Amino acid sequence: MGSFNEVLAAFDLPVVFPEINSLQTAVRKSAHELLGKAEDYGYSPDICGYVKADVAVQLDRGNHPTGRIPKPGIAVLTNACNTYIKWAEFWERLHGIPVVTIDVPGPRGPGPASRSELENDRRYLEGQIRELISACEAVTGKRFDIDRLRETMGHANVLSSAWKRVIELNRSRPAVFNALTDGTVFLGVANGFRGTAAGAQYFQRLVEELEHKAANGIGTTEDERYRLVFVGVPCYPIFRRFNEMFSEHSGVYVNSTYLWFASGGANRGFEYELARPIESLAEGVLLNVRSAMESMFYQDLMLEQMLENYAVDAIVYHPIKSCRTVSTGLADARGALGGRRDVPSLFIESDMMDRRVVSEAQMKNRIDAFFDGLASRRMRARSSEGRTVQ
Ligand code: SF4
Repeated sequence: MGSFNEVLAAFDLPVVFPEINSLQTAVRKSAHELLGKAEDYGYSPDICGYVKADVAVQLDRGNHPTGRIPKPGIAVLTNACNTYIKWAEFWERLHGIPVVTIDVPGPRGPGPASRSELENDRRYLEGQIRELISACEAVTGKRFDIDRLRETMGHANVLSSAWKRVIELNRSRPAVFNALTDGTVFLGVANGFRGTAAGAQYFQRLVEELEHKAANGIGTTEDERYRLVFVGVPCYPIFRRFNEMFSEHSGVYVNSTYLWFASGGANRGFEYELARPIESLAEGVLLNVRSAMESMFYQDLMLEQMLENYAVDAIVYHPIKSCRTVSTGLADARGALGGRRDVPSLFIESDMMDRRVVSEAQMKNRIDAFFDGLASRRMRARSSEGRTVQ
């Protein structure tokens, strides 16, 4: 995630995002071979597919379907997923590079934290950011320039508030973008270009375009019948086809938990105070990463908000074999939400990388049947409304 782009960009360090590079291998149909290579090297089939694809790419001197990824000079990660920690150990061993692991204190339970807990956590994080800055000075040989950090944080402010606005704009009917397909592209820019002028400009223009669509009733599809929310990580091995199985029934994804957690919580639109950059960066990262963790661990609470605000007809849960961080507990969370709210949901399992566990025909049968159910539910609701009016 782009959580520390602000600091890295202040040192003009080009940044590579291994999760984004890995998902691209699935979309470009080369993940299968890479997973096989990593498994031959000794990684178990049930380890995160992003890690395995990256291991195979790194072992092949950075050879990726879109070009050669240069040898890293430093690795920076958070604990937003525990897998990152073992993943970085691989780079450390293979490339002999410094690794900076930022330990972001997560939520201790659902609901807001106390003011003193947040302040303690913020100070803990601020100390680690100062260590990251020293590590970047050592790697680049450049002195830290706080005004340059203010500049990158200013770009990140524009991007974060626009990202929040983009997500809010999909409350419109019809939806102005598809949260699963377009939303994934926006996410890539939100992470990869955070802290840069290009990222800020992209999002300013995106807001302008989507506001125009919302004001003029221009939807992402001409025929929106069912407004859906997606929970989990997309099915990248058949990315386009997966979405088509819903759009063929005029189902449109209006929001997803992915847009929240995979942007590292940037959906909150937090804006840094540039007068006190390092303190404010610590506060922003803390609040954002906590929120990203909450949208994985307590996503039923987030979904309840979405149901109201986005006029949702149904929820699609997509737990995946190789990302336990996101998938663990989804069945229970679905049950808990179903007990509180009368909202139809579909639970389909596959993977975000491994085509061996993606069964398109089986998925299509389940999805077709789900839409049949949604159609009958709507007919029943209309006929009971008609009876009430009479
Ligand atoms: S387990 Fe999930 S969140 Fe963690 S690195 Fe893999 S895909 Fe990302």
